[in-house]
Amino acid sequence: MLDVPVLVLADLDAAGAPTGPALELVSAARALTSGEVIALVLADPDRAAAASPSLSGCGTGRVLAAGPATAVVAAGAADAVLAAVGAHAPGVVLVTSDYRGKEVAGRAVVLLGSACASDVADLEIVGDELRASKLVLSGSWTTTLAVAPSTGRAPVVAVRPGAVEAAEVPAPSPAPVEPLEVELSAEAAAVTLVSSEQAALAAGPDLVEARTVVVGGRGVDGDFDLVRSVAEPLGAAVGATRVACDEGWIERSAQVGQTGVSIAPRLYIGLGVSGAVHHTSGIQGAGAIVAVCDDSEAPIFEIADFGVVGDVTQVVPQLVEELERLRS
Ligand SMILES: Cc1cc2nc3c(=O)[nH]c(=O)nc-3n(C[C@H](O)[C@H](O)[C@H](O)COP(=O)(O)OP(=O)(O)OC[C@H]3O[C@@H](n4cnc5c(N)ncnc54)[C@H](O)[C@@H]3O)c2cc1C
Repeated sequence: MLDVPVLVLADLDAAGAPTGPALELVSAARALTSGEVIALVLADPDRAAAASPSLSGCGTGRVLAAGPATAVVAAGAADAVLAAVGAHAPGVVLVTSDYRGKEVAGRAVVLLGSACASDVADLEIVGDELRASKLVLSGSWTTTLAVAPSTGRAPVVAVRPGAVEAAEVPAPSPAPVEPLEVELSAEAAAVTLVSSEQAALAAGPDLVEARTVVVGGRGVDGDFDLVRSVAEPLGAAVGATRVACDEGWIERSAQVGQTGVSIAPRLYIGLGVSGAVHHTSGIQGAGAIVAVCDDSEAPIFEIADFGVVGDVTQVVPQLVEELERLRS
């Protein structure tokens, strides 16, 4: 175990609460060090104070408020990481491995002159090394990277959402909130946030954080009400293949896969999805995979834990009926 602080870049949701992945990062950090877990929040001290109880609940000892200007672009977030590393000398920095987190990680390590690992699914300390494991080549290989924790040039590790369980610590003490002085780089200062609007899809559970995701593919033939009829009783998020997004059946932000979002739900249900590698590379971290597809040769059945060869228009209503029966 490390005995130096670990810094976590803790994202907040639109309501100002730490996101699920942010709490997961805090738990991951707690498991790595006997030292302090420091959460860096890209918001003003009031918002950071409101987020502090949840962060403390998972083991954060201190919250740094870097101010909202650092949240506008990834360059600003990287500036905040740099300032926090300078002020608190953590051994490692953890960020969420989503598009933005990876951009922040890449920029931060260039500024710090340190190492970077992304899409990490598992972390452990072995001797003096931090071992970061990730699935590669569509989940057919696990690769373990070793990075040396360093208080001068902390490596930045981007951890996949859902890879670690957020766990509450017994009797947490409230983490004090400190403002963090950040000097914005010219790149960050050059961008001003004009407006910010939540996408319609975001009304349901967040796709990246959801424990259950129901994905619609070409086989649903545009009928995403059919997909939602399964998702709603399960409290699941709705995702889509690229084909479904290309067809305009659902927003692009729902796309799961190589050029969409990567997800790691406990349960993935694919409806009319063939399981092309560009799609399945985005569900490597999924727990149980359930597939309903009319082609018994479809590659999705090679990775599915449960598969139904059938027409979604016939199978899904029966599935929904059974879910209703179980809930009543
Ligand atoms: C560089 C690149 C990046 C890409 N990135 C992504 C990505 O991020 N995400 C992504 O999803 N794709 C991506 N793709 C596209 C990917 O290769 C596949 O084309 C896509 O995933 C297929 O989507 P699908 O499963 O919906 O469609 P299909 O492959 O056409 O599969 C539809 C399946 O539904 C079945 N079906 C049809 N009717 C029914 C019915 N009534 N009931 C049950 N089953 C039915 C069919 O038999 C078929 O098996 C990318 C491709 C490239 C080249």
